[in-house]
Amino acid sequence: MAPVGTWLATIRLPGAVRYADYSTVVEAVCTPLYPSMEFAYDRNRACGERLPDFPERPLAPIDELILVTIEREPYGEPWHALYCPNRQRIVGPLSDHYRYRLQEEYDLINGHLCRYAGPATVCGRVTDGEPLGLLFPTWPGGPDTSDAPPAPDLFARWNDPDLCRRCFLTWSTQPEENPEGAADVPGPVQRRRWWRFGH
Ligand SMILES: [Zn+2]
Repeated sequence: MAPVGTWLATIRLPGAVRYADYSTVVEAVCTPLYPSMEFAYDRNRACGERLPDFPERPLAPIDELILVTIEREPYGEPWHALYCPNRQRIVGPLSDHYRYRLQEEYDLINGHLCRYAGPATVCGRVTDGEPLGLLFPTWPGGPDTSDAPPAPDLFARWNDPDLCRRCFLTWSTQPEENPEGAADVPGPVQRRRWWRFGH
């Protein structure tokens, strides 16, 4: 029987589909990938022989990482993530929640991810300019989160030449770490029109 708290995750690569377990305990896709899926007892689950992966190998060059979509049951709304052909593993993000974490802490300036809207970039390059308005920090007693803007799936823009890949890759491999030079946690921000791609 499928372990409690485990759902099927479907990973779509160019020309191939892989399957994995999604753990609701850690809220993340488990890294082993499987070639097929089956319905067992009460839900779909990954099955077949575990596909080989090579976590000890170096990460592929940034431009060789592959953009994939991941969809977890029972919600079914896919998010974009990176897959390393060298390690044959998903790099990240491993959960759909990533988009909310980015929105709570980061803004975009000239395509760079900037914690609390800068001035430091995640990739370490120097940039300046106006934040695009992604940042929507929430805290106890803060803004009414029911009014939160829709959090964009920013990894969907991996192939956008205006986006800094180094920022996104760095964040996806160490999202919980505090990037160097991060600014202090800000106070309440001025409300403004929320920025979105394509608007
Ligand atoms: Zn950057």
